[in-house]
Amino acid sequence: MQDFSNFKLSKQLVKAIDNLGFEKPTPIQSKSFKVVKSGKDMVGIAQTGTGKTLAYLLPILDQLQYSDQVEPRVLILVPTRELVVQVVDEVKKLTKFKSIHSLGIYGGTNINTQKNALQEGTDVVIATPGRVYDLILSGALNPKYIKKLVIDEVDVMLDLGFRYQLLNIMELLPIKRQNIMFSATMTEDVDAMINDYFIAPKKVSIAVSGVPLDNIKQATYTIPNFYTKVNLLRFLLQNKEEYHKVLVFISTKRQADKIFELLNEDFPDEGGVIHSNKTQNYRLRSIKQFENGDNRFLIATDIMARGLDINNISHVINFDTPRFPENYMHRIGRTGRAEKEGKSILFSTEKELPFKENIEKLMDYKIPELPLPEEVEISKQLTREEQPIEKEHENPTQLDFEKGAAFHEKSDKNKKVNLGGSYRREIAKKYKKPKTRGDKNYNKGRRRK
Ligand code: AMP
Repeated sequence: MQDFSNFKLSKQLVKAIDNLGFEKPTPIQSKSFKVVKSGKDMVGIAQTGTGKTLAYLLPILDQLQYSDQVEPRVLILVPTRELVVQVVDEVKKLTKFKSIHSLGIYGGTNINTQKNALQEGTDVVIATPGRVYDLILSGALNPKYIKKLVIDEVDVMLDLGFRYQLLNIMELLPIKRQNIMFSATMTEDVDAMINDYFIAPKKVSIAVSGVPLDNIKQATYTIPNFYTKVNLLRFLLQNKEEYHKVLVFISTKRQADKIFELLNEDFPDEGGVIHSNKTQNYRLRSIKQFENGDNRFLIATDIMARGLDINNISHVINFDTPRFPENYMHRIGRTGRAEKEGKSILFSTEKELPFKENIEKLMDYKIPELPLPEEVEISKQLTREEQPIEKEHENPTQLDFEKGAAFHEKSDKNKKVNLGGSYRREIAKKYKKPKTRGDKNYNKGRRRK
């Protein structure tokens, strides 16, 4: 593999990379560098943990020259506040020896502080879509000089329902800009967005999601029910030496809280929980405590944990079996990072076995099954969902009819949304966008004081 010298980076960036201790680019960094530098639109398919953040930051920051212009030139959109904090941190480390100013923007904090910071002038804005849109509308952030737009973890963004916010923001940006998008998975939503807003994008991908990462040791248990899963988790966590940094995944917020509550009885002050209903401060604190080793385990929902960048996770425990096999890949990708060995354990009930089969099919790998340890008590207690329900007599004709109606309604709506090229022209007219690409307006904003 090539080393960083092939990138012909500026001295300041080389020094920053040396400081970080990185010796050679990761595959996604090698593949993306030239494409991002060429100015073409790009779609990168890469999971968190592959070094995708530097894959776009290195070429962008290498090209970004000093300017005393107030208005930002690069906008990086990410789905969560946590990711804003992480990307800002990476930008700051990389620009330690360069006069480049970066600013993180996210909701849930004082908007006036962010307005003031924007007034001072900045080069790179890293933001969640909602807050940045508010700041653009209020006039605090002038998007006119943004020449590079990065949308990171776009699959998660669309999952979180940010589609319209993303489209709204894109409409306010100069048409002549470079679009760079990173996604861990290709979904229909992601594809539609690329088709509508990107110009002949170059696709750059590394390993197909679904290939098991070589340095992750996987295992699975078949377990009768929720409370027996809790018993097994308790049993495993008793081995504190082996299970020293454990990320426990669960799909729903409610169950995340439940498991946290139950584990807290046996392991008080040893774990934390994060999901989107927790306050930002609570989440940041939980992540910090897990990161620095104050807490031994962290219970998290899929969306919340996707952007987490925590090293040396000893185990990922999948408390439930993801319905979408890609989510399993995201989960296990939290361990075995930076070429360290990691372990992943999957809990499945009988009902979840088809999901497990899908995961195995996607990976083309059968996860080795372990017998339930004798010490683990099989619980008789059932959750509400697990209890047998008496089905009411249904009228199938009525139900089929309703399904059909809902389906048609949705397709019509979708047709309206896909406005294609003519819509771009309309927007162009409205906002009087410059007609040429290039640097004509790149540096013509207000000067910083
Ligand atoms: P990401 O996929 O961007 O979340 O990065 C995953 C982790 O890999 C982060 O902790 C990065 O700091 C680290 N990383 C990024 N690039 C490299 C590299 N070239 N060599 C070693 N580690 C890296």
